[in-house]
Amino acid sequence: MTRLQDRVALVTGASSGIGNAIATTFGREGAKVVLADVRKEPKLEDERSVFDKLDELDATYTYVETDVTTPESVEKAVEAAVSEFGGLDILVNNAGIYYQYAVGETPLEEWDQIMDVNLRGLFLCCKAALPELERSEHAKIINLSSIYGLVGGKGSGAYCASKGAVSNLTRQMALDYAADEINVNALAPGIIKTAQNAEWRETDPELLADWQAATPWPRFGEPEDVANAALFLASDESDFVTGTVLSVDGGWTAR
Ligand code: NAP
Repeated sequence: MTRLQDRVALVTGASSGIGNAIATTFGREGAKVVLADVRKEPKLEDERSVFDKLDELDATYTYVETDVTTPESVEKAVEAAVSEFGGLDILVNNAGIYYQYAVGETPLEEWDQIMDVNLRGLFLCCKAALPELERSEHAKIINLSSIYGLVGGKGSGAYCASKGAVSNLTRQMALDYAADEINVNALAPGIIKTAQNAEWRETDPELLADWQAATPWPRFGEPEDVANAALFLASDESDFVTGTVLSVDGGWTAR
């Protein structure tokens, strides 16, 4: 028995990293998946295409080129869920970007870009999806926050601000939509081996050592570690769980 049989899921940023793993896991569990991303190809050389993985699983999916910062683009992705699969049950707000700057050194355009994608984009996706989620009997919103949405992180001002807002918006939305039985939860990954941090993992031994020291578990996370937690939050097993920010961080925030 698959855990998301015939549910319709929209995953933003689904072509790469964590989104790729979530879309694949949901497809494996019987969901019909809308892949919403600005790109089609994964970002890391050794990463497999989400299309190939879903084809191999014989899963049902569609790709919609989507920029989460543009209302019309987001609405098109939601419309595809409705026209191709008959509605929407699960929204995964995964698209996100990361830069490394202390506040004093942050270029204004990069501050705006992080806020635009990580926060405004998430808001736009929720706004576009809510009318459909209200019609669903299995409605779930899963937001990708971060450990840096729970605690401060050196040199990550804009990112921490955006993810802190995502964590608290998750709690806030859980209150507004509990009566409609829409679960709203977030995941707070630690260091997960994706393109988002590959450059620093590969070129900055000092930062790498800091990240290793802050992760009690003896390895960094894999995208599948986050996808497995997303599966729980998307499934009926989490029906009484709402407003939580679930850490998937190897113990980073347990200190
Ligand atoms: P990733 O490998 O860089 O994947 C992110 C995907 O989102 C990429 O395909 C990216 O495409 C796409 N994207 C970026 N801007 C977009 C936009 N405006 N509209 C639609 N798609 C867009 O990153 P990841 O590590 O999987 O991160 C996924 C989520 O987890 C993010 O929200 C991230 O902040 C969060 N997270 C990651 C980690 C980690 O350690 N990796 C830790 C905590 C939280 P382009 O690159 O071509 O723009």
